[in-house]
Amino acid sequence: MTFSRRDFVKTSVLGAVAAGVGAKVAMPEAQAEKGSQGPVSPSGSPKRPIIICANNGYNYVEAAYTFLKGGGDTLEAGIRVVKGPEDDPNDDSVGLGGLPNEEGVVELDACCMHGPTRRAGSVGAVRNIKNVSMVCRAVMEHTGHVMLVGEGAERFAVDMGFPRENLLTDRSRKIWMLWKQFNSDRDWWGPGIADPHWRPPATETKPQAEVWRDRIQQLQERAADLGIEPEFRLAAVRRVLFPPTGTIHCSVLNEKGEMSGITTTSGLAFKLPGRCGDSPIIGAGCYTDQDIGSAGATGAGEENIKVAGAHTIVENMRHGMSPLEAGMDALKRIVRNYNGDMNKLRFMDMTYYILRKDGAYASVCLWEGYSAGHPHKFAVHDGTLRAEVATPLLKGYSQEWPPFPPIPEDLKKDSEYLK
Ligand code: ASP
Repeated sequence: MTFSRRDFVKTSVLGAVAAGVGAKVAMPEAQAEKGSQGPVSPSGSPKRPIIICANNGYNYVEAAYTFLKGGGDTLEAGIRVVKGPEDDPNDDSVGLGGLPNEEGVVELDACCMHGPTRRAGSVGAVRNIKNVSMVCRAVMEHTGHVMLVGEGAERFAVDMGFPRENLLTDRSRKIWMLWKQFNSDRDWWGPGIADPHWRPPATETKPQAEVWRDRIQQLQERAADLGIEPEFRLAAVRRVLFPPTGTIHCSVLNEKGEMSGITTTSGLAFKLPGRCGDSPIIGAGCYTDQDIGSAGATGAGEENIKVAGAHTIVENMRHGMSPLEAGMDALKRIVRNYNGDMNKLRFMDMTYYILRKDGAYASVCLWEGYSAGHPHKFAVHDGTLRAEVATPLLKGYSQEWPPFPPIPEDLKKDSEYLK
């Protein structure tokens, strides 16, 4: 494998990658109509209280729901959900163990909105503090500001009693080292996908299966040299080839109709230091209006910021759209930003979690998932905890970023992690 993202940018016309991406545009209108004709919630009449969140929060929802049902505050309930992945060293998309920036430093983003008091708090690019969901609430509760970033946010957190700790676990450090040594020419420098001159990568002349086999084998050997455990090596290779995103959003509604929302993340793996995605941006990664509803996002942060996704969705509901329609409209704005160019849209994905004040909810995504059999899911609890499949705008699967020829099917079979 010889090309890097910089090469794609430099080369004016490289031609399209294999047509087999499977990206077919569904009729967005058809999707929206389906939603407007269907029940207000995917599974029947709306109920309160209710919690909806990204599926990585699934294991923490039951306890938070019990707390909420017992009269607990909506934001506290949301924080009880997202704190789970923040504390989990094996969730490398949030909090402790999050994959670091390009310099090997974990930087976290979070924001929240508390409906009952109509307040908001946010922190961006925070180092050394694990529970940024609680730090953004502290900004809301203990300052006259809404957003603190970087060193100031860290010092504020320490002043508030949050412990400073090393967030880079040994496992995440080794993955970063693997990326740095062997894949860091595919980084976030240079014009991005939104640049008019950006072109998708050329198809390799060598058979793709061969290219992949060589590359994966080489990276696995390097992973072994770095001491990455055998059972985690393929997962590490995957993270190096396709620096993952990952975040958790949670929206909460209690019996009284009070609502809150919270989003927390370590952001894009190997990002530029100081990069803030959508997660700490009130109105993009999270937005709650006590009178209307709450929404949050996971996925391509840069794209979401440009459509102010969470705010757009809540405003759409204010103007009468169902949660599903409201989310689809935000996704269509992302599609419109690229004039429907699937050569670009297939490299990004976006999921919204949407909760209306009456308990109606939806989760929508740009693509069905990353591969067949792995749809985007979200967790919901309205008396029964379950995972549901998010409704996609586009038929097909997103392709990982940075661009790379699709992984041949026979290689995918080798590992769950390469699916
Ligand atoms: N939205 C997050 C960010 O851009 C990443 C994610 O949700 O996966 O930082």
